Amino acid sequence: MQDKSILIIGAGFAGLAAGIYAQMNGYRSQIYEMHTLPGGLCTAWKRKGYTIDGCIHWLVGSSPQSASNRIWREVGVAQGREFVNADEYMRYEGADGRTVIFYSNIDRLEQHLIALSPKDEAVIREFTRAVRLGIALDQQPTDQDAPLVKLGKAIRLGWTFLTCRKDLMRWMNTSTDQFVERIQDPLLREAFKSTWPSNFSMIFMAFTFSYLSDQNAGYPIGGSLPMSQALEQRYLGLGGQIHYSQRVEKILVEHDRAVGIRLADGSEVRAGRVISAADGHATIFDMLDGRYTDEKVREPYEKWPVFPSLVYVGLGVNRTFADEPKTVSGISFPLRQPQEIGGEQVERIDAHIFNQDPTLAPPGKTALTVMLTADYAYWKELGRDPAAYTEKKDQIARQIVAALEERFPGIGGQIEMVDVATPLTFERYTGNWKGSFEGFMITPENANVILKPMSQRLPGLENFYMCGQWVEPGGGLPTGIMSGRRLLQAVCKEDNQRFISRAD
Ligand SMILES: Cc1cc2nc3c(=O)[nH]c(=O)nc-3n(C[C@H](O)[C@H](O)[C@H](O)COP(=O)(O)OP(=O)(O)OC[C@H]3O[C@@H](n4cnc5c(N)ncnc54)[C@H](O)[C@@H]3O)c2cc1C
Repeated sequence: MQDKSILIIGAGFAGLAAGIYAQMNGYRSQIYEMHTLPGGLCTAWKRKGYTIDGCIHWLVGSSPQSASNRIWREVGVAQGREFVNADEYMRYEGADGRTVIFYSNIDRLEQHLIALSPKDEAVIREFTRAVRLGIALDQQPTDQDAPLVKLGKAIRLGWTFLTCRKDLMRWMNTSTDQFVERIQDPLLREAFKSTWPSNFSMIFMAFTFSYLSDQNAGYPIGGSLPMSQALEQRYLGLGGQIHYSQRVEKILVEHDRAVGIRLADGSEVRAGRVISAADGHATIFDMLDGRYTDEKVREPYEKWPVFPSLVYVGLGVNRTFADEPKTVSGISFPLRQPQEIGGEQVERIDAHIFNQDPTLAPPGKTALTVMLTADYAYWKELGRDPAAYTEKKDQIARQIVAALEERFPGIGGQIEMVDVATPLTFERYTGNWKGSFEGFMITPENANVILKPMSQRLPGLENFYMCGQWVEPGGGLPTGIMSGRRLLQAVCKEDNQRFISRAD
């Protein structure tokens, strides 16, 4: 009989989810996590009474009516959590005085965009049709549905899929750049272009708006860390064990079988199976010394673009922002003069005001973040000189405060806290390759992974598995949970046992 012990590397969303389903299915699992906290990228930190949330903007599947919500309840993240569905995804303020409002509601979005640029009506309607297709595909049967309703939904879903497959493929194979080329209005084109990476598959953008319109991508009050702690509690409640501050250096292999792990302190732990829910590059090329790869395994690391790393600035402001909209992603405004910030030419600032979540700041005050795309190589080089690195962070803090002053006059005197995280911060605390914040991007070149997921195994290596954002292009928290779940389903299948899942 197969040994039922499992070692899991990493207590991010994927590792914790894998552990939860392992425990539910009668396996004895232990997680080894190098950090002192659960959650990996889904985290937050405190400064001067403010909480800087380092992750969550929206959780797809937040609506109790959605099919995935049941799974979020299985892993314990949805219960007792209040989600806010903001009216706006984001505001894009133009230098010409006009503003593009990306409303969450699809009818409102369509009307607004067409009013803003009537000459782009055809392309706007094409986009909103794709969003509505996503809404139709999101109407999946759930356990709460009466049997006839369930059947009706299943038939409708199958029919939509069959009749719209071609459309879906077209959106999968269209990049943001290809789409925006067709938009005539310069501000609208710029707004679409700068909201999403250029080689992103448009299916991603369309489906994000589907979930938002469906009120199925809410922001959880309290932010990221409480969600990670909820997963941790669920895992511990099922009898799992987490070892914090334990960095895994090597995966032990004997006769092409994973048999355990070696920790940074040199100690070794053995088990029947090993799962890595840590960074993919480090797992394959460092922990396993690149011994179990083929072209298919190497291709993503050689050719696929990754989500960039970030300069992530958290601010605490002694004021409220009652006059500003509550948004999912913030307000983007142009700078009077472009400037170099952290090695990048910056023309506009995206300020995310957490006025939807008073728990992140003392009463009457507000937490705010500014997220800037960063060049990992630039920061890696700068990091070699600690004094220059610190000075650059201080300079960025001053630059961001000055930039915010342009849009929110007087804010400079109200800012009580500024904290600058860099690609090296993301790398140090989560180990993600190049400091990436979400793993591989879905582009037209690899969009088929939506239909045919990446393998969670490595060629030639038995008893070893991977889950998390490096085997699920597009990344994200729901994907992390589904990745751990998919993996345990496969493990149960290997052991000829029925996969069990339950929400308590
Ligand atoms: C700014 C930002 C905003 C985001 N917004 C959203 C959003 O709104 N919605 C959404 O769904 N997603 C969002 N994401 C993405 C989401 O956070 C990630 O895709 C997801 O958390 C990845 O989970 P994971 O478990 O695959 O990886 P990780 O979170 O990276 O977990 C890996 C874990 O492994 C540990 N580890 C690594 N190496 C070792 C080692 N050698 N030994 C032991 N432990 C190790 C790490 O410390 C970490 O805990 C955002 C991310 C960021 C940074």
